Amino acid sequence: MNIFKKTLMTTLVSLTIGSSLSVSANGQSAVMQYLEAVTLPENGIAAREAGTENEQKTADFVVKTFSEMGYKPVVHKFTHPVLNKKGAFLKSSNIIADIKGASDNMLVLGAHFDSTGSDKGSQGAMDNGVGLAVMLAVASYISQQEQLPYSIRFIAFGAEEIGKVGSRAYLESLQETPEVIANIIGMVNLDTVAGGDYLYVHSAHTTPYKCGGDNSNYNAETSMRQAVLQASQEQLGDAAHKIHPEFPGYPEGVTGDWSDHESFSCNGIAIAYIETTNFQINGKDGYDGYSQSTNPGLWDCFDPDKVTACDRESETQWGRIWHSGNDQLKHLESVFPGRVQKQLDANVKVLNAFFSNADKYLN
Ligand SMILES: [Zn+2]
Repeated sequence: MNIFKKTLMTTLVSLTIGSSLSVSANGQSAVMQYLEAVTLPENGIAAREAGTENEQKTADFVVKTFSEMGYKPVVHKFTHPVLNKKGAFLKSSNIIADIKGASDNMLVLGAHFDSTGSDKGSQGAMDNGVGLAVMLAVASYISQQEQLPYSIRFIAFGAEEIGKVGSRAYLESLQETPEVIANIIGMVNLDTVAGGDYLYVHSAHTTPYKCGGDNSNYNAETSMRQAVLQASQEQLGDAAHKIHPEFPGYPEGVTGDWSDHESFSCNGIAIAYIETTNFQINGKDGYDGYSQSTNPGLWDCFDPDKVTACDRESETQWGRIWHSGNDQLKHLESVFPGRVQKQLDANVKVLNAFFSNADKYLN
């Protein structure tokens, strides 16, 4: 970003203080406001299970927010083969916003907006209110850039938690226009990008995911991961995103099929997947990243010397936030004050740099 743009940005921010899209009177950033809008019960949404009214309210919020930034969002509706309590198929949607770059080659930034575990008290703050909030903040920044090397498509996915239904439906919808799939040169997936101890970026697993029969298109290239990593190292220095070490079944830096990046890998698209967790913890099933934090507030009892539960037999929490009662913004603010804001800002900083200068990082 050049100095002129920096000055312009500063001016824009100071002019819009108080608006919901920029910086509020108490100095809170826009990204935190997006997060609070969809995850604090007093703002009217919180838990957003697939196919529910709250998921729909979140979709409406995303449409409104994209529109206020100047995008023309498209609502991609789909039904999915799960019956609700009334015996009808669940309905959900993906919200898509495009911005044209110098090239038709396109990068996708995606985050799911549904949540799960409301029966255990989850409000879907970290999984995945934070991913949605970061995506919206990046979309806001990108909307103000004059020259983008590549076209960018922002996608808020519905119904991820019941089987990546939104991203699969999206890729399915593109099968009749293979030229659109061919134009997508990479996808960045944001899922649980705050809350855990460290920021990580992964590529798709070297062993192909189960893509539903034909795996001939499967893409496990590391190009997107390395490009995001480079942007992160430039922007964050020592606090940059990490590559996880090898653990059983998972070579260094690769991830499983448990989020929306899978749908893209299976369709020949290189992916980078950003999450926060802690691969240094000996969790319930070993060093697999399922324990997100050493913070004692997220364990029945944590043993810092052994970096695991004091009692592996009786532990029930295992430092996990996702899909549990720990996934509430106010609870996490009390457990580690300031962490969520810091990680949100770090991700936004890196992704703003990456998406506005992607040709530099991908070449
Ligand atoms: Zn998730």
